[in-house]
Amino acid sequence: MEDSRELKAWCLALPKIELHAHLNGSIRNSTLLELARDLGEKGIIVFEDVAHIITNSGRSLSECFMLFDLFHVIATDHDTVTRITKEVVEDFASENVVYLELRTTPKNNESKGMTKRSYMKAVLDGLNAVDAVELVSSPFGKQCLKTAKFSKDQDRKNICVRLILSIDRRETTAAAMETVDLAIELRDLGVVGIDLSGNPLVGNWSTFLPALTYARENGLPVTIHCGEVHNKEEVNAILDFCPDRIGHACFLDEEDWSRLRSPQIPIEICLTSNHKTNCVPSIKDHHFVDLYSINHPMILCTDDPGLFSSSVSNEYYLAATTFELSRSEMYRLAQTATESVFADDAVKCFLREIFEDGKIYQGT
Ligand code: 5GP
Repeated sequence: MEDSRELKAWCLALPKIELHAHLNGSIRNSTLLELARDLGEKGIIVFEDVAHIITNSGRSLSECFMLFDLFHVIATDHDTVTRITKEVVEDFASENVVYLELRTTPKNNESKGMTKRSYMKAVLDGLNAVDAVELVSSPFGKQCLKTAKFSKDQDRKNICVRLILSIDRRETTAAAMETVDLAIELRDLGVVGIDLSGNPLVGNWSTFLPALTYARENGLPVTIHCGEVHNKEEVNAILDFCPDRIGHACFLDEEDWSRLRSPQIPIEICLTSNHKTNCVPSIKDHHFVDLYSINHPMILCTDDPGLFSSSVSNEYYLAATTFELSRSEMYRLAQTATESVFADDAVKCFLREIFEDGKIYQGT
């Protein structure tokens, strides 16, 4: 096997597309600790109670959701949301993610004067505040995107960012509809789709279906967290809906797989997340193997790089080493993700160009 440092460096240099990353799951640990310490000093939380949870990297799926509740206490004011967004985009750019679909759940927080709309404004402010990188889409104008060329300057990383608004499974139909309305309103500012996420043990599909259907009727693509727990009935309902993409797809049976195959629904694969939350017994046993062997469209993603202490480059490295993929195969994997993005054709063309230019990365 080739030298691991060399392969890691190659995975880092590879242009990558990230389509499944939750904003608040991508917060830097250092920022999270700093914010928690600050709230501790103000007497809002007891810092010592949360510090070990933040620094502990092995967590079950339900522990992760406990941690998300903590994140929501820590990261709820507008300035913090703006700061986190800026840092998250910078972190993705720093590892050569050329296109990022960042997803987040618009939140109301009355005590901070936050509405779903003002939360999204804080996110957009964060995107516009990115200065260490050149935001190709900033301020999300399509003209800007068309003319943008990737800089040859090694110190400047370029990233094209789009947003997906998440519906949390704890929400009511009305709240989910509100999120879709907001996504429609913000479409010209870079919102390209809708996601259904949150604790898979909470909520019913029938609660969210009207909002997801409404999104589709308004031309917004939909991605769904599917099969994170055993729930045959819900998986069936999701496949009946036929989303534009699916996240995870861990607990699916043969019948589900055949239904997924015929419309070729792309799957957002999150190796580390699925392993750390015990959704798969080991990375070696991940359904990636079966999907890869039938050439099913897949995108390697992080899910929550902060929460799971991973990165997109690391996910590529894991795939290369675990499934013994060559550099050409890895390159192709990164390149084919282009076809699954929710952004419009201009962006797709732009990304195709990047990968055509990037023959240099193919190696052996
Ligand atoms: P946010 O939407 O607040 O920016 O990102 C964190 C939220 O994303 C969590 O509260 C949760 O609702 C959702 N999320 C993050 N990771 C996962 C995951 O692995 N599975 C599911 N179902 N939801 C997740």
